[in-house]
Amino acid sequence: MKETSDTHVIAPGNWLGMLGGGQLGRMFCHAAQSMGFKVAVLDPAAQCPAGVVADLHIQAAYDDAQALERLADLCAAVTTKFENVPAQSLAQLQQRVRVSPDPRCVAIAQDRISEKAFLAEAGVPVAPHAAIRVEQDLDQLPVNLFPGILKSARMGYDGKGQARVSSLEQARAAWKSMGGVPCVLEAFVPLVSEVSVVVARDVKGNAVAYRPSTNEHRDGILAVSLVDPLPQDASRYESTAQSLAKDIAHALNYVGVLCVEFFVLDDGSLVANEIAPRPHNSGHYSIDACISSQFDQQARVMAGQPLGDPSCLCPSVMVNILGDVWFDSQDELREPDWSRVLQVPGAKLHLYGKSDARKGRKMGHVTVLGSTLSEVRSRARQVADALGIRWTI
Ligand code: AMP
Repeated sequence: MKETSDTHVIAPGNWLGMLGGGQLGRMFCHAAQSMGFKVAVLDPAAQCPAGVVADLHIQAAYDDAQALERLADLCAAVTTKFENVPAQSLAQLQQRVRVSPDPRCVAIAQDRISEKAFLAEAGVPVAPHAAIRVEQDLDQLPVNLFPGILKSARMGYDGKGQARVSSLEQARAAWKSMGGVPCVLEAFVPLVSEVSVVVARDVKGNAVAYRPSTNEHRDGILAVSLVDPLPQDASRYESTAQSLAKDIAHALNYVGVLCVEFFVLDDGSLVANEIAPRPHNSGHYSIDACISSQFDQQARVMAGQPLGDPSCLCPSVMVNILGDVWFDSQDELREPDWSRVLQVPGAKLHLYGKSDARKGRKMGHVTVLGSTLSEVRSRARQVADALGIRWTI
């Protein structure tokens, strides 16, 4: 009989479970397996990035009660790779095994209305906003929210389910075109950059924060993350971002790995944009640039083992590889020139094993390491050129 008390320590050699078989699950498998754990992945797809590297792939829907029982039979701890797994499935598992993060935290992050309310209550600065649940809420919108961004409360990420609006009429039209679903209208804030911080927090309440990464998005999808372990401007927002991210983890009583995305405003202050209750794309640099990666931490926390050291050993730039790079200027399919990427000094290539390249689909990333920020920038530029990715940082 597996013991599943909160503080039970799971030794390497035992099973850890993962709901969701995408690239985050795959990188979790690599980290957990390298520590000697066995990993079972539940995912409905026959071929999925994590399923092909896991010790066991249970191919079933996320709400398949029998499959969830099978996962619980095997694993003393289960985690999830993304916030759209039904909270109900996590609750079912929680009856029998340790589930991290807690379904309550996943539910908060799944819904922008509850996420914003939670952050504001925890004293974390957020952009001015209002919730729109029913049509009448549109009539109450304060004028200071325009121009703004209307964001659907649920299932909207990577820039999806959003519309820029500059008047009440536009907000009304956008809300209708989104199907009248619950939304948040956020005032446009004067952001100069976007940063994110990954935090790992264990069951005893210990927490460690990674160095913030500065992120550039294109078409709402993360394109590039840059991390400097010794920035010139350390006195500015970096330490604030780290302590706010830890505050959020503590306020949630969070167990696991989470990421907080912030906007840095023109006066140097921060507002929290969103919480991802899982390892995050902007934290992938930690695999190559840190002593313990965000995926190592996920396995350590699940297993009730001590947290790892998040120290960052050198500057890095992570370049995301989207399916777009498989298409030439005539929109013909081609194989990217991997040799040109691999010959760049300090470049570490990560491909997620997805066979079907589609535009906008995350296929992999390259982390570029070096001894100075200017060196990693210039190396990352060579990687971007090799892949035909526009370079702007
Ligand atoms: P999100 O899905 O909330 O991460 O928003 C996608 C992108 O839109 C962000 O990465 C920002 O570049 C931009 N954005 C979102 N909200 C705001 C805001 N309140 N003010 C200015 N830009 C924003």
